[in-house]
Amino acid sequence: SDLMPNFSGFTVNGRLRLLDSLGSGAYGKVYRAIDCVSFRPKFYAVKCLQRPEPGSRTDLLQQREFSLHKLVSGHPNIVTFHRFFRDTRFVYVVLDLVTGGDLFAAITERHIFLDNVPLIKTAFVQLIDAVQYCHDLGVFHRDIKPENVLCSADGTEIRLADFGLSIQSPVCQDFGCGSSYYMSPECIGREFNIGKYSTRHNDIWALGVILTNMITGRNPWRYATTEDDCFSAYLHDHNFLRKVLPISEGVNALLKRIFTINPLCRIPLSRLRREIFEVETFFDHISSC
Ligand code: ADP
Ligand code: MG
Repeated sequence: SDLMPNFSGFTVNGRLRLLDSLGSGAYGKVYRAIDCVSFRPKFYAVKCLQRPEPGSRTDLLQQREFSLHKLVSGHPNIVTFHRFFRDTRFVYVVLDLVTGGDLFAAITERHIFLDNVPLIKTAFVQLIDAVQYCHDLGVFHRDIKPENVLCSADGTEIRLADFGLSIQSPVCQDFGCGSSYYMSPECIGREFNIGKYSTRHNDIWALGVILTNMITGRNPWRYATTEDDCFSAYLHDHNFLRKVLPISEGVNALLKRIFTINPLCRIPLSRLRREIFEVETFFDHISSC
């Protein structure tokens, strides 16, 4: 993406003018865009990607991203996919604009979830619904992390984005797929290698990391000096997080049922959805820290 130009000011397909940058990821740069032809100003987000060699592996992966995103695009908590255009060098994906930015900025810069139990529940349940919808259609996201979850400015509306790593297979052998802090043990592989692993259960683990991020403002595996330290400390002692963070017994109990080493023991999404409502407080200021 270093080879990508600054697209601000470009007009795509004769009618979509690209404006300011909304963000970038490993593959794309995303711009706010305005439809110059429609009578009322209508805004979109346009993801600009390098155009791959036709028939190459990258081309096939890009086709997969677009077709899976289109497949799940109807859900209110998933970013709407409109269409894509190509010129000789780039591919432009037209998406609904989500004005509040991504969940990463909402958590780490805007702190909108801090101490707001009802808002976390509202937002997190929408994220569960988006993921459940994908799973019901046999689509497994594999890259659930705050950068790939978008939200309205006040955090009350959530939309899942970036289907770049999604697959339609309930099992896979892609170890190390996704972003390290969000990867389940079986996806990391190494000493947790169980051969093929379930993409459904891997997504549920990532949701647990996001939930912890929303509640505490930080990634759960970052409290010790290194990522591995904290992660392995937790896997040896499921009360470890509660020792370094003032999370309540209720949240701790729920996280224990998400962060299970055995993926088959992980709490299903439908139960997680129900039980998140039953947790009354997220912090226990009296008994810990
Ligand atoms: P990549 O595949 O390169 O990670 P993403 O689809 O995740 O690309 O988009 C990169 C970033 O652009 C996101 O993390 C988010 O900040 C921003 N972004 C993506 N889509 C939208 C959208 N529809 N509305 C607003 N911002 C978006
Ligand atoms: Mg992304």
